[in-house]
Amino acid sequence: MKYETVIGLEVHCELSTKSKIFCGCSTKFGGPPNSHTCPGCAGFPGTLPVLNRSVVDYAVRAGLGLNCEINRINSFDRKHYFYPDLPGAYQVTQFFHPVCTNGWVELASGKRVAIKQIHMEEDAGKLVHDPWEDASLADYNRCSIPLLEIVSQPDMRSAGEAIEYLEKLKAILEYTGVSDCKMQEGSLRADMNISVRPMGETKLGTRTEMKNINSMRSIARAVAFESARHIEALEEGGRLVQETRRWDDAAGESYAMRSKENAQDYNYFPNPDLPPVIISGEEIELARKNMPELPEAKKRRYMEQLGLPEYDTGILTGSVHLVRLFERACALCGDAKESANWILGEVLRLLQQTQTLPEDMAFDFDSLGKVIIMLQKNLINRGTAKKVFTEVFTNNVDPEAYVKEHNLALVTDNSAIRARIEQVLAANEKSVNEYKGGKAQAMQYLIGQSMKALRGQAPAREVTAVLKELLDH
Ligand SMILES: [Zn+2]
Repeated sequence: MKYETVIGLEVHCELSTKSKIFCGCSTKFGGPPNSHTCPGCAGFPGTLPVLNRSVVDYAVRAGLGLNCEINRINSFDRKHYFYPDLPGAYQVTQFFHPVCTNGWVELASGKRVAIKQIHMEEDAGKLVHDPWEDASLADYNRCSIPLLEIVSQPDMRSAGEAIEYLEKLKAILEYTGVSDCKMQEGSLRADMNISVRPMGETKLGTRTEMKNINSMRSIARAVAFESARHIEALEEGGRLVQETRRWDDAAGESYAMRSKENAQDYNYFPNPDLPPVIISGEEIELARKNMPELPEAKKRRYMEQLGLPEYDTGILTGSVHLVRLFERACALCGDAKESANWILGEVLRLLQQTQTLPEDMAFDFDSLGKVIIMLQKNLINRGTAKKVFTEVFTNNVDPEAYVKEHNLALVTDNSAIRARIEQVLAANEKSVNEYKGGKAQAMQYLIGQSMKALRGQAPAREVTAVLKELLDH
């Protein structure tokens, strides 16, 4: 029998606000354990939360970017469960009236993945399992860091669609400045719901939820593993249980964590400490007016203005960091096509070679434009430009200083080129005579020797011209 895999994603993203959602503590990543805490976010009884209003602005921005309806009246609820990284024993979230509903993300195929809702909530802390002592330690620095949870409908049918959806979502959150979306630091995390059903069936099968998906690559692996597990269970006539499973990326498999709880297990109720959130029409209009150009619009504009193929433009606009680098290089060198070619060529090559993500590029973004300018001015050749850019990429060198320091500039002074070539001719009398005797290959040899003498730092066209002129005289 043929089966269809049905996938939905719940994506948590940490917001780039300076302070936490209900207190003034810092949201900075890292720091000594429990140094970014106060009685409020450490769950002391008697403290009262005060909403950080900029969290609402971020939520509105995300909602607009994801084509959602913004709910002008929304509110916070408590989700109760006990876990040592949650000192209040409840999480403040939005259950009954979330801030955004009914959005979508469009995939390249034109298919729209529906977004059921976006809600604001607080993050939990972190447990550190100390390997030397028989103890677990709680670090509450992450407690109450503002999160948006973006819940899709189960509209995806393959790992490819799930990855594309998540990449598009990530790009929109980055473009709008809502989150830095660093999966490896946990500021973007995805939980995945998977079920399978016979092809043609319209009822959803039993679903399992998979936690801890922390890279695009693990989505593909987790979908493959989990759908195979479901199909096998169905084929063998076994029953699948609705449960939460943990994805173990190192082992390449998932294992059961707990049976899936239903909403009533959490005993959700409206949080009496926080008044409803009211968003005015003007606030929404202002946010709409201040929205940056989003990936799809940018892609269309680049295609029209640069005449780049759709595929290339898609890669370029897929990351706000590549876009920033591109736009900075264009502004400096004035050549959009050349700038795009550098990014699609050398930058992508180096990212792949060093297994670096675009968000982790750590060089001065002016440097790419500077390299291109040196090339335009014929101060260096293309081979040298690539070498210099590799140094920029890996060691953040200043390209102009680097060229000077390593004596990489082209020899453009005609008399200097002429002097070196005369020396080469004097030293290769045999080849000179062969050439004069009508042996054309001798010329190639002499060009090679001249380029070598000039250490490849003279324009080949000029070397050939000077050589011809001297020989034919
Ligand atoms: Zn605090």
